[in-house]
Formats: sequence, C-alpha cells, structure tokens
Amino acid sequence: MKEIDWKNLSFGYQKTDYNVRINYRNGAWGELEVSSSEEINMHMAATCLHYGQEAFEGLKAYRGKDGKIRVFRLEANAERLQSTCQGILMPELPTERFREAVLKVVKLNERFIPPYESGATLYIRPLLIGMTAQVGVHPATEYMFIIFVTPVGPYFKGGFSTNPYVIIREFDRAAPLGTGIYKVGGNYAASLRANKMAHDLGYSCEFYLDAKEKKYIDECGAANFFGIKDNTYVTPKSTSILPSITNKSLIQLAQDMGLKVERRPVGEEELATFEEAGACGTAAVISPISKIDDLENKKSYVISKDGKPGPWSTKLYNKLRAIQYGDESDPYGWVTVLD
Ligand SMILES: *Cc1c(COP(=O)(O)O)cnc(C)c1O
Repeated sequence: MKEIDWKNLSFGYQKTDYNVRINYRNGAWGELEVSSSEEINMHMAATCLHYGQEAFEGLKAYRGKDGKIRVFRLEANAERLQSTCQGILMPELPTERFREAVLKVVKLNERFIPPYESGATLYIRPLLIGMTAQVGVHPATEYMFIIFVTPVGPYFKGGFSTNPYVIIREFDRAAPLGTGIYKVGGNYAASLRANKMAHDLGYSCEFYLDAKEKKYIDECGAANFFGIKDNTYVTPKSTSILPSITNKSLIQLAQDMGLKVERRPVGEEELATFEEAGACGTAAVISPISKIDDLENKKSYVISKDGKPGPWSTKLYNKLRAIQYGDESDPYGWVTVLD
C-alpha cells in the first residue's frame, strides 16, 4: 500500500480497509458484519433520506508512546447514541454491541492508526439510519448501524492556538424544544448557512445564542462553550445544546484542579468578564477563543489579550490529551486499551 504521510493528514475522509455493520430487522439487532465496501445499498424511499432518521457519533482511537491503542469514553458515546435514538424514535443499540463494533473496526484497521509522534489520531464515525421504504411520516421498522474509521491530522497544526468567533443571529441551529440535544444530521443541515456566513466574514466558526430570546450563549459551531473566571469553569445550561463528552470530561478535570464549576444560563454580556474561553469537542479537545464579535451590536468581546491560550485552558488541554494518549493515569476509567 501507499505510505501514509502521517504528518500532513487533514480532517478529511480517507479510505481504510474495513467498516462494520449491524442490521436491525423484525424487532432485533443482528450479527456484526464486516464489510470492505464503502457503499450502502438502500431503497430510494428509505426514511433516512426523506425524514432525517439519522444519528451519528464521533470518537477517537489514539496510539500511545507504549504503542498501545486507546479508545476514549466509548461507553459515553454509546449512551449518547441511545439518547439520540429515544429523541428520533429509533431502536437503541445496547452499549455492549456498540463496544464490540468499535473495538472490532479499530482492530481491523490497525494499520491506519497514526503513530504517537504524529499527533494524528483515528477518527471513529458510528452512524445509524432508518432503512425502511416509506412515504408516510413514521419511524422506520428497519435500521442499519455502521461504523467507519479514518485517520485524521492533529487539529492544531502549528501548535495549540486561539481563534476568532462571530455571533450569528440570522440563523438558529436548534429550537429550545427541538433536536439540539441529539446528535442528528438535521442539526448540521440547519447550521450550514451560519457556518458559511462566519467563514465568509473571516471567522473560524459561528457562535449561537439561544433561539428564543437571543440573549444567552448556546454553542460555538459544533462544539460546546466554556469560559473561565475567578477560578470558576462556567458552561451554559440550555435545552438546545448537544451534551459534549469532552465538556463533561473537562468539567471533571477542572474540579480536580481546584476550579469551581457552574453550569447555568450565560448571558451574552457575561462574555466581557471571562479571563479565558474555549470551544470544546472531540476534534480539537479545546479550541481556545481569541475574541467573539457581535457585528450587529458593534461589540467585540476580546478574551485573550495577548492572542495566546490561557493557563487554565492549556492545563486542561494537556491533561485530557495525556489521559487519551496514555501518558498519564486514567483515574475515571475513560480509556479502553485494546488487547
Ligand atoms: C459532537 C458535538 C459536540 C461535541 O461533543 P463531543 O462529545 O465532545 O465530541 C458539540 N456540539 C455539537 C453540536 C456536536 O454535534
């Protein structure tokens, strides 16, 4: 095979050897199947194509200094997928089956797991789709669960650094009682215009306020928001935010480091008071925020005065990465080490 240039991988799709699949038919999950096809055969009237019965997850496998392969918080991803399934009426895949599928697909594609030194990782993408041919709006009776993997480059090519964000009021990602708390493709379709607008304006990502009042912070693109001030880690509480597993992990580590943690509504004006802020998710762990502009109200909330990531963000980032790569101990059992 062609040698992979580990140092120059982007966050894109690259073909690997295998994917794994589990079909749901007649009210039951079937056997795990291994496939080397990148394609899915489906009926043109499948519910996933018309009515958005699609859920996905995102997690990573890391190769440690010791050569061992570690998968981060796969049970938490399994549970979040189950919650998404409740949200859009799909059958829940038991955690044990999810675990079996993740470990199998990672093992089968072992040669695509980047070396420790490269800073690259193996991205794992589970998805679940409604397969039944239907024209009426009802949940499908047949589903397909698939996991594929692809090697991805380090998020920060030139080292851990800050990025500018912009508040977009023209578009909402999710309604207060909508599907924002579920990891479904529809939320991403709803975010594409806001994301393009932010990029066209020269920002790295869009920043959402709550859809109802446009007063409170919701999310930054496809990542959760946190701010730090007065030795406190503050993250928004809202009914339309996707519960990030990275955020949940950072909350635990922040507490361990002696920070107080507050999960509560965060008004836009409070942005002016944070000493540090970041967007967090599996892709970047933490993407520190340099500033957040509110163009309509002619405001610019400058978070990082010197343009560098703050000390708490840096500590949290290093700590979480150290656990993921196995450089430091894993006190909460977040990591599954492959045999
Ligand atoms: C996946 C996702 C996140 C990040 O979740 P992690 O579990 O930390 O990767 C945040 N917001 C949205 C909208 C997402 O889809």
